[in-house]
Amino acid sequence: MKFDAVVIGGGLAGLSCAISLAEQGLRPAVVSAGQSALFFSSGSLDLLARLPDGTPVASPPEALAALAQQAPHHPYSLLGAREVMARAAQAQALLARCDIALVGRPAQNHLRVTPLGTRRATWLSPREVPVTPWDGALPWQKVVIVGIEGFLDFEASIVAASLAAEQGLAAGTACLRLPALDRLRANPSEFRAVNIARVLDLPESFPALAAELSRLAGDAQCLILPACIGLDSPEPLERLRAAVDRPIYLLPTLPPSLLGMRLYQALRQRLNRLGGVFMPGDRVLKAQFDGRRIVSVTTRNHADIPLRARQVVLAGGSFFSNGLATNRERVYEPVFGLDVHSHADRDAWSRADFFVPQPYLQYGVKTDNRLRALLGGEPIENLYAVGAVLGGYDPLSQGCGAGVSLVSALHAAGRIALSLEENHEPAL
Ligand SMILES: Cc1cc2nc3c(=O)[nH]c(=O)nc-3n(C[C@H](O)[C@H](O)[C@H](O)COP(=O)(O)OP(=O)(O)OC[C@H]3O[C@@H](n4cnc5c(N)ncnc54)[C@H](O)[C@@H]3O)c2cc1C
Repeated sequence: MKFDAVVIGGGLAGLSCAISLAEQGLRPAVVSAGQSALFFSSGSLDLLARLPDGTPVASPPEALAALAQQAPHHPYSLLGAREVMARAAQAQALLARCDIALVGRPAQNHLRVTPLGTRRATWLSPREVPVTPWDGALPWQKVVIVGIEGFLDFEASIVAASLAAEQGLAAGTACLRLPALDRLRANPSEFRAVNIARVLDLPESFPALAAELSRLAGDAQCLILPACIGLDSPEPLERLRAAVDRPIYLLPTLPPSLLGMRLYQALRQRLNRLGGVFMPGDRVLKAQFDGRRIVSVTTRNHADIPLRARQVVLAGGSFFSNGLATNRERVYEPVFGLDVHSHADRDAWSRADFFVPQPYLQYGVKTDNRLRALLGGEPIENLYAVGAVLGGYDPLSQGCGAGVSLVSALHAAGRIALSLEENHEPAL
């Protein structure tokens, strides 16, 4: 099997890279071993929320010079501010072509309401999530936070208390009780956001759900629920908003996350429509080289038929997705054995205080400033590393996880398209 590019990993980085390649007329194949971080994500996409020294970032482009000084190995610092902002804008346009409805813009962070009722800076948020401008407030005085009877992954009283304390809202709580959910509730391990949405999204659930939400709303100006509505599209929520005649917003829940899964589905559908190949449940095990070029990769399911590729993109994610691994002695990248940022001393990998930035979150693959992965200090000519497998940044404390994934993925796709065009190689 021959492809213009083989992408290793089908999370946000791998899928957006493959979509961009396919949009540029190339033939990508994505090999993806398991579920990605999208299934666990809030659905909001961070670009840069804080500098390493803790300074909050209102405007990512204005903070990139300081970031380059404080974190010279950060993927944004390697790429340079102009490239980062150009790719971020491209990424936003790509997501729109995937029919993903998001609010926000790269030049200015907004604040999204978290499942704890606090606010957190981010770049793009699903339309269903309540957000405020950077220096603004929610537009209501009285809201009701609606929990779902028996659903343990969302605590309405915590959200209400935070909204009252931090934003001065009159925030009440209510509990949604629907007979339609009784069977599911009888099995607590199955009573999760996605399964609840499968019931609430049914057309036959709609009249009782709309009537109950109208009753619970009372004279509140807005309802806020856990994200358990609209698994396949925003349409069920839009119909409820119309029936209840006031805004209804959703907050992300513990995983599996409906808002993150919707992002994944939309990206997969776009890749399918563009004719990209997706190989779920398969894992790239090793690669075959000609000098410093990869000629093919071997996967678990295609052990006898290597996938031949002119370019390869490593988007295997971090430790969470087994894109990086550890043993007692070292941190390593398991497919190619690439150079990684890490500490040799195991005691330096983590800090005892859970609430401070953890060193291991910055571990990952080293690259040159085009994001070509390094092996023995030299780049592999046709291997790009993108997304969470990259080192030099902390997605959690710097609030930049999705941004690094999208920016690096589109940078790699752009470089690949350019290099194949420059070499005048016929498409495989
Ligand atoms: C639990 C969690 C929640 C997060 N929430 C947010 C959020 O709300 N907002 C935000 O901005 N950022 C969030 N992040 C940061 C996140 O890392 C990025 O946003 C982004 O989703 C990472 O995408 P990725 O494609 O690089 O990696 P991943 O999403 O980890 O995907 C990597 C994929 O590669 C596959 N893979 C690994 N090795 C191989 C192999 N050898 N062969 C084939 N496939 C392989 C894995 O199975 C996986 O599917 C979160 C991270 C985690 C861990």
